[in-house]
Amino acid sequence: MSAPKVPAPKIIVVGSLNMDLIVRTPRRPETGETVMGEDLQVLPGGKGLNQAVAAARLGVSTQMVGRVGEDDFGRRFLAFLAAEGIGSDGVRATADAPTGAAVVTLAGGDNAIIVAPGANMRLTPAEAADLPVAPGDICIGQLEVPTAATEAAFRRARDAGAVTILNAAPAQALPPSLLAVTDILVVNETELAAISGAAVGAASIADDIAAAARLLARDGRAVIATLGARGALAVDRDGVHVVAGHAVAVVDTTGAGDCFVGALAASLAAGSGLRPALARACAAAALSVQRLGAAPSMPTTAELHESGL
Ligand code: ADP
Repeated sequence: MSAPKVPAPKIIVVGSLNMDLIVRTPRRPETGETVMGEDLQVLPGGKGLNQAVAAARLGVSTQMVGRVGEDDFGRRFLAFLAAEGIGSDGVRATADAPTGAAVVTLAGGDNAIIVAPGANMRLTPAEAADLPVAPGDICIGQLEVPTAATEAAFRRARDAGAVTILNAAPAQALPPSLLAVTDILVVNETELAAISGAAVGAASIADDIAAAARLLARDGRAVIATLGARGALAVDRDGVHVVAGHAVAVVDTTGAGDCFVGALAASLAAGSGLRPALARACAAAALSVQRLGAAPSMPTTAELHESGL
């Protein structure tokens, strides 16, 4: 008798969809000043959507859960999800708020972003917890939808035997109840400082970061800190793992952290251990910073393979 077929683990992203309104500028205006930038680019983004695209392009079955408005941007998102092969049954359109948007200024490869959250903040805990989740799946959340919704989704995912990854971005204080249902916490340096209360100093930065991450790596939780061009560091039961960044020509760092999270989840869903997953996430993110935009800059498996990173 053959063993029953177990479906491959999938990724469920509970999170934001923001249309990115991007303008490249020689420098940012001072208060009250106007500067002339380049032409506006309108590209799909939002931490949730970016992470879903990063995972799906690396060949893992991916579902998105979130909210858009009943407007042009919302329809554009649904078409984009379909084109990327990402399940959108969990993305509902709401009439009482516009689709989320982010105003992004790019000056010399660095970005500055204002998010207008709109429909994202209408995601309810009941909707978020309505997940098609199975044992071994991975559920990813961030902080651009109500934390109560993310927490409800994580609780449901955990009950079903799935692994939860919280990307605690953008930086803000975390409810302990959300942390309690998080298996893997992913933060950048600013977010780590905001959560751990540790000052991330310039002197022995890796030591400082590892110490701060260790603070949080309790109860079997793994903590990963992304370090920009310097790569990433993880702390789990086995100790500290460091993966160096790749030296690349940066075009736009928007979505680098999201690419990292999506690629990390894709590797873990495919059965990798934490360290190889970290290395693959750094390689994917190094490719993404060489292209404009967030979601559109996520690499495919073939591109990652060809890059040799
Ligand atoms: P965030 O985008 O959330 O601020 P980071 O800046 O730490 O996060 O970047 C996330 C990941 O993207 C890093 O761990 C690294 O792998 C990659 N990355 C970011 N910036 C660069 C860069 N300039 N060169 C190469 N890799 C980068």
